[in-house]
Amino acid sequence: MFAKGRALFGQAVSAAAKVDVPSGMGDAAALVRAYESLGLGSFWKTDSEGCLTYLSSAASAALGVSEGLAGRRLLDLFLRPEGESERTLPFVMARKGRFERVTVRSERAGEVRWWSVSGEPRQVGGEFVGFLGHCVDITTERLSAEENSHQALHDPLTGLLNRRHMSQLLDKTLTAFAPQQRSCATMLIDLDRFKQVNDTMGHAAGDALLQQVADRMVRVVGDKERVSRLGGDEFQIILPDQDDRGVLGDIATSLISSISQPYSIDGNRCIIGASVGVAISPYDGDGKDELLRNADLALYAAKGSGRGRFRFFCPDLLKAAEDRRLLEEDLHDALEKGELEVHYQPVVRATSNIVTGVEALVRWNHPEHGMISPARFIPIAEESKLIKVIGEWVLRQACADAAHWPGNLRVAVNVSAVQFADEGFPAIVASALASTQIDPDRLELEITEGVFLQEGCTTDARFNALKGLGVRLALDDFGTGYSSLSYLKTAPFDKIKIDQSFVRGATGADSRNRAIIAAIVALAEALGMDTTAEGIESFDQFELMKQLKVTLVQGYIYSQPIPNDEFVANLAGGQWEIEPVGPAHQRHERQAMYRRVGVVHDNHYYPVVLRNLSASGALIEGLTDVPVGTTFVLDLGDGQLTVATVRRSRKSQQGLEFETMLVSDGNGGMCARVRVSPYQLVAAGVPQNMRGDGPHLIGQADGKMSLPAFGMATDWKARSEAA
Ligand code: C2E
Ligand code: CA
Ligand code: CA
Repeated sequence: MFAKGRALFGQAVSAAAKVDVPSGMGDAAALVRAYESLGLGSFWKTDSEGCLTYLSSAASAALGVSEGLAGRRLLDLFLRPEGESERTLPFVMARKGRFERVTVRSERAGEVRWWSVSGEPRQVGGEFVGFLGHCVDITTERLSAEENSHQALHDPLTGLLNRRHMSQLLDKTLTAFAPQQRSCATMLIDLDRFKQVNDTMGHAAGDALLQQVADRMVRVVGDKERVSRLGGDEFQIILPDQDDRGVLGDIATSLISSISQPYSIDGNRCIIGASVGVAISPYDGDGKDELLRNADLALYAAKGSGRGRFRFFCPDLLKAAEDRRLLEEDLHDALEKGELEVHYQPVVRATSNIVTGVEALVRWNHPEHGMISPARFIPIAEESKLIKVIGEWVLRQACADAAHWPGNLRVAVNVSAVQFADEGFPAIVASALASTQIDPDRLELEITEGVFLQEGCTTDARFNALKGLGVRLALDDFGTGYSSLSYLKTAPFDKIKIDQSFVRGATGADSRNRAIIAAIVALAEALGMDTTAEGIESFDQFELMKQLKVTLVQGYIYSQPIPNDEFVANLAGGQWEIEPVGPAHQRHERQAMYRRVGVVHDNHYYPVVLRNLSASGALIEGLTDVPVGTTFVLDLGDGQLTVATVRRSRKSQQGLEFETMLVSDGNGGMCARVRVSPYQLVAAGVPQNMRGDGPHLIGQADGKMSLPAFGMATDWKARSEAA
């Protein structure tokens, strides 16, 4: 062994000319000394019991046995290996054969070092008498190799997994989970308004912001190795064995609210937001690519429904993406073809029922699809930049209509953040005022917090330019987004509009919204601003708003948005006093619908129509002869099976109570917390689509073929076709 060593280390020895070699020492011994003292490696020797009889001084010091070797076993110098393998030191030494470069670790004073150990058995007269060996401290190489592999797998800026590594991880997880029928959720997260921060505060600030975002995400998820930065301001998380949409919704909400807290960067404050799309394997796709595409569609939908939201994938999104593309095409010529109209919804003084103004709301009368909600096409317009043309047209139309109204009724116009950010916007407003000659004080521009978060001095300059024209400014949709009251102190608002979702949440017995609204009203009053409560439908909401001293009310309790002629007709007497009309109570978040679903009872699957749905129950239609107390499984589609008990049954309608509550789908709708996986659905014979006219048998035929327990309503066919 030493002969080999000589050739290998010849270079080192010649470089070691200065090394003191005691005279009278044999060549081999001198070489060993030279080698040791250069720190290139250490030699060791054990007896047949594995106890050390020799160890180079360099290794003795590093391994803490300088005091003496008496009774010390080689194995005891190193940490016990993790796991069982043929490459561990105890294993190879027990075999009493030759071994090479076995990696071991030592620990001394809290410092871990890595060693590569080789050894050769010594024999005397055919009998094993111990090992003669060599060891090298490889800590430095080891750490730099780890560093390199960390760099190859991680994003250098945030230390999170990089895109490539995340992609492999997801792929590996899904492949391993599929045979075990385990689930795995993935979330795509996109920061809202990150680009503005980057543009206005600089690249370095953008980097610092991304690092803080990464830290916050890791804190929510609790495991750094599950979070990835895909690039830019896009992130991905994987959550193995998680298919509970209640839990996933909570995680997504925590991510959004954590990311949306203000950041301090070099003493500057900034706020961004986040949108989250969620897809869960195997329900929403079993391969990596399909799952990712679907998470991406969900993310896109989350952004489209107002940002700062999460959204679960559902198959409708695939169709929605296509519909959206087609709508965008049509929207290009909608204005030219005269398909857009402006309707006006009265804003009423709650104490007198007198209309003080209106909000202009754009309407699109599509030749094929009929009326399309602005909630649907405005986001498309915003994305395709069509919003500038459409927004300008609405503004000019609203001013032109207002010029013909009697008195000083105000007209409020919604301004999208994209329009507001445009440098030419104040000039457009000035031109609309000039050409219609309306008093600037009659024009109110409704803007959302979104514009604010665009950062920097341009926002202030824009506010000043608009205030300089004499128009009024309203903060719209308060209570939906970040709802920071700090904007109110800095920007010259004349009004706060409290969003309908916030009002809705205020009527509950233990709602905090009530106290928040009271605080907003007090603050607005102190700052000389008006308050409008939006979306008031029922008397309980109405009375509450009056009690909380909200000055103005807008909602169906007074009037829906109406065409200009109708509005003008109501103003014939000079002013319009409206008697509020509406239900006493807000209906309990029960969403009316007309959707085909299925019911499973015994061996039968019945198609039915879902008429309404709340978190705790539903109303179905289509079955007859269903006794109260019947328990069956409601199939809401896509594996959403919910155990339900019939609480009311009248002719062909049954009121159901769910065994477990549905959870929010992040989009104002509801979904089942946990889905039944496609594997189980197929195994149970549940149909993959809910077509079919009557009950049919499902499940394994176990000899107990029953007849359908319920009849189908006679007008079923007509109903189901409508659905
Ligand atoms: P918004 O600014 O929050 O407008 C109020 C929305 O609530 C309107 O929906 C209105 O019809 C509806 N609403 C009013 N009272 C009630 C009520 O009592 N109950 C219920 N359930 N809803 C009520 P609409 O007209 O569908 O508009 C939706 C959104 O589209 C608006 O929300 C606004 O953000 C946007 N939008 C509408 N027109 C324009 C426009 O010209 N420009 C821009 N940029 N956005 C617009
Ligand atoms: Ca509005
Ligand atoms: Ca609103």
